[in-house]
Amino acid sequence: MKNKLAYFTLFTLAFVACKNQKPATQGYQGQGKSAVVSTLSKPVQKQWKGIWTFNEDTTFFSNDFESGRLNGITSDGNNHYTALITAENTPVNVSPWYAFKVWSKTPKTITIKMTYQDSRSRYYPKISTDGENFTPLDSTNFTGINKGTGDFGIKAVPEMVEIKVAISEKPTYITAQELYGSTRVKSWIDSLTTKDYISTYEIGKSRENRAMNLMEVSNGVHKKAVMVISRQHPPEVTGFLAMKSFIETLSGDSPKAQKFRENYDLFVVPLMNPDGVDNGNWRHNMGGIDLNRDWQDFNQPETRSVRDFLVKKESEGYEFVFGADFHSTWDDIYYPIDTTITGEKGKIVFDWINNITKRLPQKHTNVKPSTDIKPTMVSRNYFYVNQNMPAIVFELGDNTPRDFLKEKGKVAAEELMDLLDNQN
Ligand SMILES: [Zn+2]
Repeated sequence: MKNKLAYFTLFTLAFVACKNQKPATQGYQGQGKSAVVSTLSKPVQKQWKGIWTFNEDTTFFSNDFESGRLNGITSDGNNHYTALITAENTPVNVSPWYAFKVWSKTPKTITIKMTYQDSRSRYYPKISTDGENFTPLDSTNFTGINKGTGDFGIKAVPEMVEIKVAISEKPTYITAQELYGSTRVKSWIDSLTTKDYISTYEIGKSRENRAMNLMEVSNGVHKKAVMVISRQHPPEVTGFLAMKSFIETLSGDSPKAQKFRENYDLFVVPLMNPDGVDNGNWRHNMGGIDLNRDWQDFNQPETRSVRDFLVKKESEGYEFVFGADFHSTWDDIYYPIDTTITGEKGKIVFDWINNITKRLPQKHTNVKPSTDIKPTMVSRNYFYVNQNMPAIVFELGDNTPRDFLKEKGKVAAEELMDLLDNQN
């Protein structure tokens, strides 16, 4: 009680002392200004892919599947293993992606110590036996090692973790987030193209020659359009899941969606970095570059393909009325462009955020408007500076509940359709 009272007194004093400043806000405050970096290709370490065998051929580990990442595994005896997770190249963001399968000829429980190259344990393990349905590892089977000292972000998570997993003959997937590799994303796109107003085509190739797939939602030729991209950063699956729900709502059967499609076309690149995703990269494409720093110099084929698409559509007379780039970070946050830059035209983004917030009061989400838009570097800035598009970076938390992500994507789509309808 004493502590609480002292804390309250301190807080009150601090509040009185700062009353002319903005009140303290809660939750994730967002990242600082991005440094200008070269986006010329750099060497990337491709991981060895295959199956590791232990204990006289009874226990197996594999990274040999789309989005797999396991750089090494050792057996320490007594069913204890140490896994090594390394990055595609460095320096790299602290987003150590991992994904591997493990199985055994006879059922048993094993312990795996997860270690990361110059990083910490950001992603809480997900478990699956079919590679499609994932659940977080039971917390009683999770132990942090060298726990973080900070309150938030990478400083708050353990350096390594030890997990206990029951394995059997059927492989168990252990992954940083749900698996959405290029094959699964393509089958999602294909499942939507059964509607006659949805089509898909390639707008280019990645560095490793994977398709840059674009989804077009259009029931006729309109000259106003919405642009959506996601997954520039491979591990950012929660951003992808919100985007998926957003797109399913905009292309759905509701009267609102039908009305939206009477006036607007929708262009979507759901997988901006197919090479990075399929190679299980932490952040970069196979040119070793953070694609969301390449929207000024366009040194990478993935960003170039979207730029060329937008330039082509502009030459056809298209006006882009809204652009969104979906990402994931420590918690949900919005990064719009400040209206001191965008003026009246950019107001729709803030109206949209306010409307979403009103409908989803259960989860507080900070808004961090940017005034730095040149050099463009990031997609949002390129969208605005070169295509005059009101645009946003829409970020979801790594651990945001999956049903809420889905709801947020849906609500965001509904509110956008209302605002665009008013503009029309
Ligand atoms: Zn990102």
